[in-house]
Amino acid sequence: MKIALIAHDKKKDDIIKLATAYKTILEKHELFATGTTGKRIADETGLNVHCFKSGPLGGDQQIGAYISDNKMDLVLFIRDPLTAQAHEPDISALLRLSDVYEIPLATNVGTAEVLLRGLDAGFYEWRDFYRGKDREELPF
Ligand code: PGA
Repeated sequence: MKIALIAHDKKKDDIIKLATAYKTILEKHELFATGTTGKRIADETGLNVHCFKSGPLGGDQQIGAYISDNKMDLVLFIRDPLTAQAHEPDISALLRLSDVYEIPLATNVGTAEVLLRGLDAGFYEWRDFYRGKDREELPF
């Protein structure tokens, strides 16, 4: 699966803890991240992460483009709900595209854990079959 990892600045320690705790699951998948989040995850967990640009510089939009090309299967976006973000329009656009394409999306650690455990339990294997197919061929 192709998994996107993003965390706002005050949530970066949380995503590192999450990535460390679920490293054995995450390392079986192809990981993508916004720039700063991805660099920290790679440096601090040893996981292999493809880093896009930093979120405020277009990284969220790059992940959105992958979603619209049916090239992203899961988004773990640990948001900071208490701090205004300069790139809020990009964040909203990414969340919107996840909904448009029915991509499982976690916006907090609690949901991220459920999705990762579900992924590991094989709940999402059917997705393999549809990767790269046109939107119209997806079941939903
Ligand atoms: P960053 O971007 O990982 O480059 O900090 C995250 C975000 O969208 O705020």
